Amino acid sequence: MKIVYLIVLSLIVLSSCKENSKTTPVAKTQKKKHIENDTAVKKSYPEYLNIDFLMGKFNPAKHKRFVRIEDKYTNKHNVFLDKDAYSAFLKMYNAAYKDGYKLMIVSATRPFDYQKRIWERNWAKRAKIKDPVKRAMDILKFSSMPGTSRHHWGTEVDLNVLENSYYTDGQGKKIFDWMTKNAGKYGFCRPYTAGRPYGYNEEKWHWSYKPISKIYTQFAKENMKDEYIKGFKGAETAKRIQVTKKYILGINQECKH
Ligand SMILES: [Zn+2]
Repeated sequence: MKIVYLIVLSLIVLSSCKENSKTTPVAKTQKKKHIENDTAVKKSYPEYLNIDFLMGKFNPAKHKRFVRIEDKYTNKHNVFLDKDAYSAFLKMYNAAYKDGYKLMIVSATRPFDYQKRIWERNWAKRAKIKDPVKRAMDILKFSSMPGTSRHHWGTEVDLNVLENSYYTDGQGKKIFDWMTKNAGKYGFCRPYTAGRPYGYNEEKWHWSYKPISKIYTQFAKENMKDEYIKGFKGAETAKRIQVTKKYILGINQECKH
């Protein structure tokens, strides 16, 4: 009787050991894998990149990624660009200059508060449009809601003249053709081309430094939400318009990858 009892007891112990040896390592591996994945996601983005950065809520004059644009390249004072975008722009500027074209930066980094001033000026001008969604969408043909502009990022430049018609003939067309042929060699692409399903109208003057801006676009795709868009007149329309999907991400596919 004692022997049978011992055998039964040892079987129970053995089987519970087996049970333990099965479950514990699997649970540990899963936990470890989960942590590694989390780290991998975080590591794929620069440490300064967060929602505040994406939404232009920082001072470019004090940010390590940003440099001031020399006066000879811009008609503005005290404007900034991402340092890699700027050095690529200088190479492109020199190449264009040798071919007889002058590239003038007329807008570069615009922080949240700057964009808010533009937006609210446009909002006030459209007081006759009573439906707030229609009012916002009328501004959105060409101008971004604060917090959603690619100009927050330091990777974007508006060049020469802010009129599509300027680029359809004469010197404007020559510059546009030169850019279309050569900008890609320096890392620049055009996010607001004609014929996209939604988003801003075409902008022939707006160019983006893709090696950096594609990272920010991907970050926006994964992390940005319409609920974050607030702090200015008409901000409550952002969710109904789907600003993140249609405007932040509604760009030329060639600028995404
Ligand atoms: Zn622009």
